[in-house]
Amino acid sequence: MYGKMQDFLKNEIESLHNQKLYKHERIIESPQGAEIIVNNQKVLNFCANNYLGLSSHPDLIKAAHDEIDNRGYGLSSVRFICGTQDIHKVLEKKTSDFLGTEDTILFSSCFDANGAVFEPLFTDEDAIITDALNHASIIDGIRLAKAKRWIYKHADMRDVEEEDQATGKMAKGLERCLIEAQSCRFRVIVTDGVFSMDGDIAKLDEITALAEKYNALVLIDESHSSGFMGKTGRGTHELYNVMDKIDIITTTYGKALGGASGGCVSGKKEIIEFLRNKARPYLFSNTVSPSVVGATIKCLDLLSSTTELRDKLEKNTKLFRESMTSAGFDIIPGIHPITPIMFSKFENSSQLAVDFASRSLEEGIYVIAFSFPVVPRGKDRIRVQISAAHETEHIEKAVSVFTKVGKELGVI
Ligand SMILES: *Cc1c(COP(=O)(O)O)cnc(C)c1O
Repeated sequence: MYGKMQDFLKNEIESLHNQKLYKHERIIESPQGAEIIVNNQKVLNFCANNYLGLSSHPDLIKAAHDEIDNRGYGLSSVRFICGTQDIHKVLEKKTSDFLGTEDTILFSSCFDANGAVFEPLFTDEDAIITDALNHASIIDGIRLAKAKRWIYKHADMRDVEEEDQATGKMAKGLERCLIEAQSCRFRVIVTDGVFSMDGDIAKLDEITALAEKYNALVLIDESHSSGFMGKTGRGTHELYNVMDKIDIITTTYGKALGGASGGCVSGKKEIIEFLRNKARPYLFSNTVSPSVVGATIKCLDLLSSTTELRDKLEKNTKLFRESMTSAGFDIIPGIHPITPIMFSKFENSSQLAVDFASRSLEEGIYVIAFSFPVVPRGKDRIRVQISAAHETEHIEKAVSVFTKVGKELGVI
């Protein structure tokens, strides 16, 4: 039987190569950090979600070791049978305190948290209203729910339905969706706090105002925000000063908050209590391992005691964005450490982005090119991610390499 499928898959894989859509993985031969070893060569890493530089932080590594000694390697159980230790409850409590919520439930990943949160809470009587550019895990999670769906054009808050220039299809704004969904029992607006391709931030001031006007809940995915957005790093809800207006937060411990793995849903206590009883990835998947729990607790303690790391990240981001702008690059403006270098104004933009990334790597700067279908056609880019692990010299080196490669390729 496999022969037929094998032929099919070989063809599909070849076609991925032909379309330049095949995903090649570069092998890192060192811990994650500002400096990493790739191909036996030391390079500066500018493409990790290691926003606060905690992936290899000595205090987190020690906390992980300690918890292996104290609580073992694994639990071999889901939470509700015999997989809940004291430290799992501590992490849930510390996460709630950090995010400013009532309660928190852990998952193996934020992908799982988003896969878990919609199906039990929203039935065919309810409406889920979601930004068109939300993360893949939100899209999949919503697919599992029986609720009615409205997709609003990315960041479009208006009461309109009109043709979207980019796609040629009709698209609605958020307020229009809310009006159409008024007869449903519950409505929930769902958005990434920060969108990972452009580094743009959800307009939580307008979203929460509309939620009040039309009696809707608000769910934000804070994966690219938790730990550093807002003046004490609590997230985009802190940045917009709407911490009391968000009903549900999903986030990951696999980016700024330590970088290993794990995720959660955090919010109103009855919602969390209900999910503990009903969420399938919680009921039917293994508990988060003690070492990860221990290191994540250490991470939250660290971030609650000082804003030093998020302040350094903010300073690094500002330096990089200003230097790249004065060097003449087309970068998407903003304040987030995700800094896309755009090649849209060039005809051969996707080839340019790929060449730019590989030339930069040869010069010791590791960045990645993003092309269609990850980003819209013609919006090819290098997505640079700044970290608190970077020192000023690292940022200056990156800018000088980009300037050299940019001139060489005729980009600036
Ligand atoms: C990375 C990411 C996730 C997935 O997080 P994991 O914990 O790695 O599964 C979910 N949502 C958003 C917005 C993300 O950026």
